[in-house]
Amino acid sequence: MKVSVKAAVVGYPYIGENREWKKIVERFWKQELSERELQLEFANLRKASIKKQEALGLTQITVGDFTYYDRMLDLAFLFNMIPERYQHIEGAKTLTTYYAMARGNDDTVASEMTKWFNTNYHYIVPEYNDAKLQLNHNIYVDWLNEAKEVTGIELKATLIGPYTFAKLTKGYDEKQLASFMIQLVPLYSTLIQQLAEAGASSVQIEEPALTLELTEEDIRLVEEIYKQLDEATTANIILTTYFEALSNYERLIKLPVAGFGLDFVHGKKGNIQAIRHYGFPQDKVLAIGLINGRDIWRTNLMEQAQFVQAIQYYIPNNEIWIQSSCSLQHCPVTTKVEVTLQPVLKNALAFSDEKIPEIVQITEYIETGVWPNPSAVSASMKAIEALQTDVSRNNAKVANELKQLTNQDFHRPLAFEERLALQQRALNLPLFPTTTIGSFPQSREVKAWRAAWRKGNLSDEAYEEKLNEETTRWIHIQEQLGLDVLVHGEFERTDMVEYFGEKLEGFAFTKNAWVVSYGSRCVKPPIIFGDVDWTAPMTVKEAVFAQSKTSKYVKGMLTGPVTILNWSFVRDDISRADVANQIALALRKEVAALEDAGIRIIQVDEPALREGLPLRKENWADYLQWAVKAFKLSTSNVDNETQIHTHMCYCEFNDFIEPITALNADVISLETSRSHGELIHSLQDDSYPYGVGLGVYDIHSPRVPEIVEMTDILNDSLAVIPAPLFWVNPDCGLKTRQEPETIAALKNMVAAAKVLREKLDVKQ
Ligand code: GLN
Ligand code: ZN
Repeated sequence: MKVSVKAAVVGYPYIGENREWKKIVERFWKQELSERELQLEFANLRKASIKKQEALGLTQITVGDFTYYDRMLDLAFLFNMIPERYQHIEGAKTLTTYYAMARGNDDTVASEMTKWFNTNYHYIVPEYNDAKLQLNHNIYVDWLNEAKEVTGIELKATLIGPYTFAKLTKGYDEKQLASFMIQLVPLYSTLIQQLAEAGASSVQIEEPALTLELTEEDIRLVEEIYKQLDEATTANIILTTYFEALSNYERLIKLPVAGFGLDFVHGKKGNIQAIRHYGFPQDKVLAIGLINGRDIWRTNLMEQAQFVQAIQYYIPNNEIWIQSSCSLQHCPVTTKVEVTLQPVLKNALAFSDEKIPEIVQITEYIETGVWPNPSAVSASMKAIEALQTDVSRNNAKVANELKQLTNQDFHRPLAFEERLALQQRALNLPLFPTTTIGSFPQSREVKAWRAAWRKGNLSDEAYEEKLNEETTRWIHIQEQLGLDVLVHGEFERTDMVEYFGEKLEGFAFTKNAWVVSYGSRCVKPPIIFGDVDWTAPMTVKEAVFAQSKTSKYVKGMLTGPVTILNWSFVRDDISRADVANQIALALRKEVAALEDAGIRIIQVDEPALREGLPLRKENWADYLQWAVKAFKLSTSNVDNETQIHTHMCYCEFNDFIEPITALNADVISLETSRSHGELIHSLQDDSYPYGVGLGVYDIHSPRVPEIVEMTDILNDSLAVIPAPLFWVNPDCGLKTRQEPETIAALKNMVAAAKVLREKLDVKQ
C-alpha cells in the first residue's frame, strides 16, 4: 500500500551558510544598519532558506525556527514579559528593548542565560515576576505570510511549547504558577489559532521539557494545557519532543493533539519500547526523528529505512513524517566549502544540507519501496565504510595500550592525606596560596602575532620568541604581585580545546562548521574522527620556559579529557567512553612529559565535566563513572609529590560534590564569587577532603573588586575549608580581561590572602 510520508525537519539553522545572520545582527548593534534594513536582510535570509530547503527536497517547510536573538526571548517578548528594568528604555517594545533584554546596555544588566537542555546552545531565561501578559505583534504570522510568497509547499509553524516555556521561566513560585498559566495558555491558544488561520497546515509545539522527569503535578499541568489548547484552537498540533524519549508515554500519548514528534536518535530505546508496550494512537501523525540533528555524520540509510519499517509494523495506517531528531540548528550548515578536509573524512560528513537529502531518500523509499537515487545510497554506504576502515580509525598502538591498562593505572598509589604531607614538604607553599586559573589577557599584539604566524607572515621562531617575551613579562608581573603559584599565561592558545586538538592525532578542523552557542556567538567545534593519539609534547616547551624565569612554581596547564570530548563533534562508531579514554591516555603522556621536565604542579581543567551530564538523572551514574575514570587515567601516573589541580567554572558544587571528590585531584579551583553562600552550605553538609581554590572574584566583569569583598568570602569559607587546604584564586581564566584591571584585581586578591594569614597569625 502506498502510504503518505512527509520529509521534514524540526528546524533548520538560521545563521546562513556564511554566518550572514550574525553579521546582520552585529551590524545593527553597531548602528551600521537601520531597523528597516535589518528586517529586510532577515527576511531575505528566511526566504533564501525556504527556497534552499525546498530545492533539497523537503515536502514540508518549517516556519518559526528563525529568531532575532533567541527563540525563548522571542516568546517572552511576544507575551510582553519585559522585566521592570527594561521598561524605561526609549522606544519601549521595539528591538532596542528586545536587544537590551538579550545583552544589557550601559545601565541595565542583561537577562540570565543558561544551557538549552544538554546542548551547547544557551537561551535567555524569561522572567515572570507577576507580569501582566499580553500578546504583542505575532511575528510568526508575518513569517508564515512571507513564506507563502516564496513557496507553494506545505508550511508547518513551530513554537516552543507552553510547558517548556513555563518550566524554563524564572521569577515565580508554586503559588504563582496557576496565575502564570491562566494568562499564558490562552495567549498560546490565540497564537496557535492565528497560525492555523494564516494557513499553517500544522503547528509543531516543541516540548523538550517533556523528556525530563515529571511529577504527577507536572503531568496534570500538561494534560490541562493541552486540553485547553485543543478546545480553543482548530490547529493540527504536533507535540514534538527531542533530546530524550518522551517521559510518561503511557499518559502523555493520550493528549488531544493531532500527532507526536519523537526523537528516535537520542531517545530511541525509550520511545521504541514505549510504542511496543503501549502502542501508538492509530489516528495520529507520528513524526519520526530519525536523522541525528546534533551530529555531523552521514547516516546508514539502509539501516534507518529498516528501522522505520519496524516502527510501521505498529502503526500500519498512520501518517508518518521522516525528520531530524531535533532542530538542525545544532548542526553546521553545509560541508560544501570544506575543501581542505581529507576526502575520506569529508565524504563521511553530513551537515544540515547533506542531512536533508538523507531524509528525502528515506521518505521516498518508505513511500514507494524503492530508493529514488540508489547510487547516492551506495556512495553514502561506501563513504561510511571507507572512514571506518581508514588507518585513522585503526590505530593498533592505541588499541594495544588501552588494552594493557590495569586498575592501577587509574589510581594514585597513596591516599590523599599522605600525598598532601609529601606535597607540602616538597612545595613548601605559604598558607592560603594564591594562584590564577591559567590564561592572562590576550592583548591585541598577541592576537596580531598569531594571525601573522598563521598566515605564514611570521616564522615559527619569531612567533615563539614573541610569546616567550609575553610570558616573561607576565612572570615578572606575577612575581611583583606576590602570587605564590604562577602560570605561563596561555598566550599560544586561542581556545582550550582547539589547541590540543591541533596537536593530537584523530582531530580535524573545519573552515566553516559553525553552530550558535548563544546570541550571535558561534563556535566551530573540532571533529574527533579518528583514534586519538599523542605524538609529541604539546605544552612542555612553554611550561619549562616559564619555569626557567622564576624560582616560584609554575603550573603546567592542560584541558581535561571530558572537556575536550564534550566540546567537540565526536565520531559515532565507538562509545563516548572509549573516545574519552583515548584522549585520557594521550593526556597521561603529556602529564608524564611535564613531570619529566620538572613541572611539579599540573592543572587539568574540566569545566565541561558537568555539562556532559545526561538529561535524566537515571543516566548520570553511567556517565560519571566513565568520565571520572578518564580524568583519573590522565592524572594518576605522577609522583606522590606532584600536585594535580583541576578547575571547573559554575559547577554547582552542591549536587556535584560526589563526582568531584571521585576525581581524587589534590586541589580543585572553583567559581565561588557569585555563589559562595551555596558553596559554604554544601561544604558544611558534605565534607570535601581535598584542596579547594576559592574563586574570590568574578572575571566576567572588568570591575576591580575591593579587598574587603574578597576577605568577606574568605572569612565565611574559613569555617568549612580547613586552612591547610585553602587556596585563593579568581573564578576563571583572565583571557578576556584587560591588563590594567587584571593587575589591579590580582593585587587586591593577594592582599586579601594576606589579611587572612594575619588573622590566623601565620608567618608570611
Ligand atoms: N585554563 C583555562 C584558562 O584559564 C581555563 C578556562 C575555563 O575554565 N573555561 O583560560
Ligand atoms: Zn573556568
